[in-house]
Amino acid sequence: MRNPRHSAVAFSSKGVENSNWEFAALVAGTWNTLLVTTLAVPVAAFKLSVEYFWYRVFDDGRVETEFDLDTGQPTKWGLATPPGLEEVGWRPMTPELLQKIIAFQEFGVVSNRASPVTIKVSPDDDVIIARDGMIIKGALVKCKSCQYVFRSPKQPEICPACGIVPKWKCDTCNELYDTVAESQKCELCGSTCRVILPFFLTQHAWEEVTYLLGIRGKYLNKFTSNGLITVPDPDL
Ligand SMILES: [Zn+2]
Ligand SMILES: [Zn+2]
Repeated sequence: MRNPRHSAVAFSSKGVENSNWEFAALVAGTWNTLLVTTLAVPVAAFKLSVEYFWYRVFDDGRVETEFDLDTGQPTKWGLATPPGLEEVGWRPMTPELLQKIIAFQEFGVVSNRASPVTIKVSPDDDVIIARDGMIIKGALVKCKSCQYVFRSPKQPEICPACGIVPKWKCDTCNELYDTVAESQKCELCGSTCRVILPFFLTQHAWEEVTYLLGIRGKYLNKFTSNGLITVPDPDL
């Protein structure tokens, strides 16, 4: 059994030696709530879809990308911080490159919200760069009131579209409550109330990928296509 800290998928998903991949489990536990399991996915059995690909610029002007922009051929990152590195970052997948990487059994996603993330590298810097993926098991939720459909990693508490929330019902006296005491007892008759969910739930699993980019001991950027989070002094 692997150490859980190492069970997430970084560049190791592509068979790349990378001393940074120990940082891959940073977001594990985020979804550690009702109905949710973070699967320990065998590294070799699972490939993350690529929404961003890495690129790096050396002090002699050389530019390298994770996939050859003309052919789509993948490249290994190699050493954690190769000598002469001046700049490194993640670029969003493009529709053109997406078509090319398919020939190499790579899969991609093009997001219209994605924008490049870049950092400068000084000679003594140790770069942290990794792609951290999880399969989230949750529910596809359909609101009975407004028909809105959304993903939820846990029991949904509110419809994000119309705001409807679950109610509690006493079947003995037909009373409806917005909330009940922890005992779930009816205030009138003392029977146990049951929750009425205004949602249809279907089991659903999806992929969440977080991208990491930083300098060890200085700062760490973590981002998804939904936004950028900077951790000033990561406790790694
Ligand atoms: Zn709704
Ligand atoms: Zn009652």
